[in-house]
Amino acid sequence: MLQVENLTKRFSGFVAVNRISFALEQGEILGLIGPNGSGKSTTFNMIAGLLKPSEGSIRLEGREIGGLAPIEICHSGVGRTFQIPRPFKQLTILDNVITAAFYGQRGSVTRAKALDQAEEALTLVGLPTDPQAEVASLGAAGLKKLELARAIATQPRLLLADESLGGLDETEMNAAADMLGHIRREKNITIIWVEHIMGVLMRVVDRAIVLDHGEKIFEGLPREVARDPRVIEIYLGS
Ligand code: ADP
Ligand code: MG
Repeated sequence: MLQVENLTKRFSGFVAVNRISFALEQGEILGLIGPNGSGKSTTFNMIAGLLKPSEGSIRLEGREIGGLAPIEICHSGVGRTFQIPRPFKQLTILDNVITAAFYGQRGSVTRAKALDQAEEALTLVGLPTDPQAEVASLGAAGLKKLELARAIATQPRLLLADESLGGLDETEMNAAADMLGHIRREKNITIIWVEHIMGVLMRVVDRAIVLDHGEKIFEGLPREVARDPRVIEIYLGS
């Protein structure tokens, strides 16, 4: 489904992501982990088009998408959440997700269809479809769900979820992890899930990649990650 080769991002001399390569099978959940500043969000931003790669290629279902505009990449089937949720605060929860449903469509789409897609996405993440429900009523966990609902409403085949557990307590983290597994099964979406902590993520992912200082230092099964000497070193050392 996705093939990333030698992906590199330099910010005036500073190498944030250094020649990373990985591939993703249709239907897989890949965990992308690493300490703060290891290049996870930068990798996402290149795949989603917010940043242009300095080098390397990103092929989605065989087609090069590296360097395309975010809306073109969205229309190619890639949805993403942001680490820091920034909903339209003046719109209701439902209208936030309807807006995303419109953004995800090429050409014209009826309001009825966008409404259907928004309601489906909200139901999937467990938020109210009630047209009056306000964004201000949401706490940290609710805002993370809204991010996911907005991404899902764009009808992606590949979902990039950035730090969906940030700011959540343990119960909320477990619920969010289960939700991503549920979304994958219900919608048959392929997922790359970024998180700086390992914990609950490892219950849900099929495979994990660990970044450190912009380099891929590990790729393997969840049960192998916590036993890898380099992973142990960066996690205990940081
Ligand atoms: P992560 O998501 O793993 O915490 P990021 O991808 O956000 O890490 O950042 C990787 C590194 O690149 C960090 O050192 C960060 O300061 C740097 N960085 C990210 N974005 C920019 C930018 N726009 N300009 C300069 N440096 C950046
Ligand atoms: Mg980040």
